[in-house]
Amino acid sequence: MVGVDADVDAPNLYLLLGDFMEIQSEEELYESKKAFIEFDRCTRCMKCLEACQNGAITRDLRIIPELCDGCPACAFACPEGAIKFKITYSGKIIVGSTKYGKLVMAKLALGERGSGSLVESVRNIGRRLAFDEGASAILVDAAAGTGCSTISSITGASYAVIVAEPTPTSLYEINRVIDLLKHFKIKSFGVINKAGINKGVEDEIVNVFDKEGIELLGRVPYDPLVLEAVSHMVPIVDYSPKSASSLAIKRIYDKLGEVTGLW
Ligand code: SF4
Ligand code: SF4
Repeated sequence: MVGVDADVDAPNLYLLLGDFMEIQSEEELYESKKAFIEFDRCTRCMKCLEACQNGAITRDLRIIPELCDGCPACAFACPEGAIKFKITYSGKIIVGSTKYGKLVMAKLALGERGSGSLVESVRNIGRRLAFDEGASAILVDAAAGTGCSTISSITGASYAVIVAEPTPTSLYEINRVIDLLKHFKIKSFGVINKAGINKGVEDEIVNVFDKEGIELLGRVPYDPLVLEAVSHMVPIVDYSPKSASSLAIKRIYDKLGEVTGLW
């Protein structure tokens, strides 16, 4: 199996898979758009400064690259056509080898934000790697939420596993995620993480899964040992193999293999 960390804004899968990742390849990405001003055309009317919602333009008309996301409101506002764009370095995609298998992830440059196209690049490299390795499956850790990066994370997926926590926020989010997965016609399964912390909300989440025909693969009980394992950078299933959370994760893994036929 090949792992793909598609949560490009906060990649952390490599931390959960042990503290050592041997880097096999790095690919630099140049896909960020940054504004700059052609001062021979600029009349210093300051319309661009008013238009920029990111505060990326200073009063002396410097554009701070780390704050500019290339939106391009300033260029629309500029009556002189003095604002242009250049493509800049946005980060790199890393393919690494961990104790548990190959992993693809992105490392963004300072001030850069994840985008759907970056996630797509990470996913495509993961797909190539899986093909080369003859892997039976690609496991994608999707970006949270329902935005562009999440949509890009689930594009082409055969199955999705919705991991919900018994909190009101998670209950609200899963309804949106389910709508998204239904839209893309992706067969979905459910998992409850930190089960037991709020029985009422947990029951509501299970009802949502039931109503939507989403099979619940299992519940991972709230377990302080998980935090301890994370702080030691060891997966809980290795850190404490007999703990209730480890046993639940193993059961869920087996069940997922059984219902999908992937392992
Ligand atoms: S492109 Fe957008 S973020 Fe960048 S300076 Fe112009 S208005 Fe601001
Ligand atoms: S809007 Fe155009 S002309 Fe006006 S200050 Fe900005 S770059 Fe210069």
